[in-house]
Amino acid sequence: MSDIVAELGRKVLETGHKLTREEGLEICKPSVDAYDLMYWANKIRKKYRGDEVKACSIVSVKTGACSEDCSFCAQASKYKTNSPVHDFLPPEQIKAAAKAAKKSGSYALGLVAQGYGPKDEDLDIYVDYMKTMDEVGMVEKHINIGIMSESQIGRLKDAGMVCCGHNLETSRRFFPKVCSTHGYDERVETLKSLKRQGVKICSGAIFGLGEEWIDRVDLAIDLRELGAGNIPMNFLNRIEGTPVANALPMEPLDILKTVALYRFILFDRDLGVYGGREVNLRDLQSMIFFAGASAVMMGNYLTTAGRPAEVDKQMIKDLQLKLAPPRVLETLPPAGHPEPIPARAAGN
Ligand code: SF4
Repeated sequence: MSDIVAELGRKVLETGHKLTREEGLEICKPSVDAYDLMYWANKIRKKYRGDEVKACSIVSVKTGACSEDCSFCAQASKYKTNSPVHDFLPPEQIKAAAKAAKKSGSYALGLVAQGYGPKDEDLDIYVDYMKTMDEVGMVEKHINIGIMSESQIGRLKDAGMVCCGHNLETSRRFFPKVCSTHGYDERVETLKSLKRQGVKICSGAIFGLGEEWIDRVDLAIDLRELGAGNIPMNFLNRIEGTPVANALPMEPLDILKTVALYRFILFDRDLGVYGGREVNLRDLQSMIFFAGASAVMMGNYLTTAGRPAEVDKQMIKDLQLKLAPPRVLETLPPAGHPEPIPARAAGN
């Protein structure tokens, strides 16, 4: 067993040690055994997040024909893909999505839209959507609609937005290779505004775009410092027509190693393995929890299909983990701090 992995694993467990960039790079060297890393990542997950798994769902409220050119995305109008294209969905479809999310066991439904960010007049639509979600109840209202000003964030928060999804996607260094129509720092500014406004932050990445381990480490440290409470980890599902359609797929063990690395660096946050789970991990999907994940996405992704929620629920049950119950938060925890672990799950 690697001495450095065991030493750092113990330090995170016993003292909540925040890994430095150099330490992060040490534990993802090719010589480090993925199973060693996962052994400690699993212990760290159990200590800081318990045995509860958070499951959320999303609905794409406005899809395709996007002005931006993110290299991985089926929705960029610049690329010839088979992405569906539609304008804002009618509120009845949001209600149906909220009901389906609740039924599937998801604690939250994220309203997701393509584009750089919303126009001020679009916000009325989101306010109405959230009202229809309130009629269903017991599903947290999350919104993921791109770069937003502080006043736009304030308006949505006042209307009930609990959490805002806004991925950084990749490291500052690698970002220009992924997107040329906006910059990393524009995305960072939205996260800083969310933190100032006291809105929970869901921010993560997509891996397998050609980035290096140093990019993965740098991004994890940025997410930690910016206060992301939930970290979606997406793994490239190669879409024909996009510039990364022929990228080499990540090896399943490298995916698990990336999850374990993030559990070391972001030890007390929720880590979700979302897009690309089925297609990239295949039979190794259930190992994401051993690698340190504490969240999954139920149902379909934005433009690709997931597997039935019942299959994921059975996987969670078989692993003797517990699905977090759907609920509505009465008070918001401070931005960037994960919610406290329910007593029954803590320390298991
Ligand atoms: S990731 Fe979002 S902003 Fe980028 S092209 Fe896709 S829909 Fe547009």
